[in-house]
Amino acid sequence: MKTSLIQKYNIPGPRYTSYPTVPFWDKKGIDLDDWKKSTINSFNESNAIEGISLYIHLPFCESLCTFCACHKRITKQHSVEDPYIDTLLKEWDLYCDMFETRPLIKEIHLGGGTPTFFSSENLRKLVDGIFKRADKFEGFEFSFEGHPNHTTEEQLQTLYDLGSRRNSFGIQDYDPKVQKAIHRIQSFEKVKEIDDWSRKIGYESISHDLIFGLPFQKEESIKNTIKNTIELKPDRIAYYSYAHVPWIKGVGQRGFDENDLPKDDEKRHLYELGKQLFFDNGYVEIGMDHFALTTDSLYKAMKSKKLHRNFMGYTAGKTKLMIGLGMSSISDSWYAFAQNEKSVETYTKKVNEGIIPVFRGHLLTDTDLIIRKHILNLMCNLETDWKIGLSPQIKNEIINRLGEIIEDGLLEVNDTKLVIKEEGRMFVRNICMAFDLRLIKSQPETRIFSMTI
Ligand code: SF4
Repeated sequence: MKTSLIQKYNIPGPRYTSYPTVPFWDKKGIDLDDWKKSTINSFNESNAIEGISLYIHLPFCESLCTFCACHKRITKQHSVEDPYIDTLLKEWDLYCDMFETRPLIKEIHLGGGTPTFFSSENLRKLVDGIFKRADKFEGFEFSFEGHPNHTTEEQLQTLYDLGSRRNSFGIQDYDPKVQKAIHRIQSFEKVKEIDDWSRKIGYESISHDLIFGLPFQKEESIKNTIKNTIELKPDRIAYYSYAHVPWIKGVGQRGFDENDLPKDDEKRHLYELGKQLFFDNGYVEIGMDHFALTTDSLYKAMKSKKLHRNFMGYTAGKTKLMIGLGMSSISDSWYAFAQNEKSVETYTKKVNEGIIPVFRGHLLTDTDLIIRKHILNLMCNLETDWKIGLSPQIKNEIINRLGEIIEDGLLEVNDTKLVIKEEGRMFVRNICMAFDLRLIKSQPETRIFSMTI
């Protein structure tokens, strides 16, 4: 890849885990009654046909990783577990009380924070509590995120017994100097132990998250991290670009100096190096930043054009309604987004008062819904179809905005389609930005986003 192209297109931009992206949600927010109406509408349209999904945010972590941009609460006090699970189940009750029939759950994902911060007993209490008010939809899937240092064989067995067949572990990097800088010390042996337990128990898909662009990463250290990863052969690998946004996340990301970070070409080289090593070992690139073995459901979803992208990244399936439970969780009714309160205390207070704890959201307009489809197509399938309802004027404006990218040979446009070429894959965020009418209209402070490359 030409250096000049990377320099030219490496600008701040959204990662498009939603459209509109959160900074462009309606500043007026969403009226709680509108959110409830939208949820009920979406539920009535889809529950019996495809089920619904639940994202459950378990925010506690025992120690702070200095690269982390998640909504988390650092504590070693496990006394927080019980009241938090009780609140989650009360919040679930608030939703179930709105529906006339029992929810059919197609998918549950436990994210964090560190879901495996919670004891086996409390994880069981949570999942059993959810199913007191719901049933499983055919093909039910249950996945969770774990921290290798805080996951026991007992927890893995409990979650498997509760129906989980897929798990995901944050690895980031195996190099001791990098691990020290990001305050995330975990050995290869520990990760291997977790993977071995998972395989023995019967998990069908294991995912490892790696990050490139971390402080002190060099070609040799990345090669070693990837060699270790390939040795364990996870079914999926997320190879994320480190999002350096200390102005948003504050001191958590200030555990190292800006000069310690690999930049532009150097950073991109780390990605290209990793990508080639994954290809050499049987992995296929999925959308942006993800790789999977051809036996994994994520690959199969990509092949059948069923790949979906949401706040958790890429998923193999989609339901119209995804309810987010827990502090900071984002729900998606397809017609609206709503985010829960971001502090545990405010979240808990509202739920205890019987209020769905939403603090902001966005009702999608007809144009938002059309742009959302195009952006999802681009992020998941690397192409989109002009048939999806844009006016000729908006379509022409988009093509004009893509002028330089087309001239640079990164995508092809004809009367029916826009197709991103393989050389253009790394610029998919830039291409989506040409469709992002809200970004174009508002021109906000672009520092709110990480760099696109
Ligand atoms: S990276 Fe994961 S374990 Fe580390 S602080 Fe963030 S949420 Fe917690």
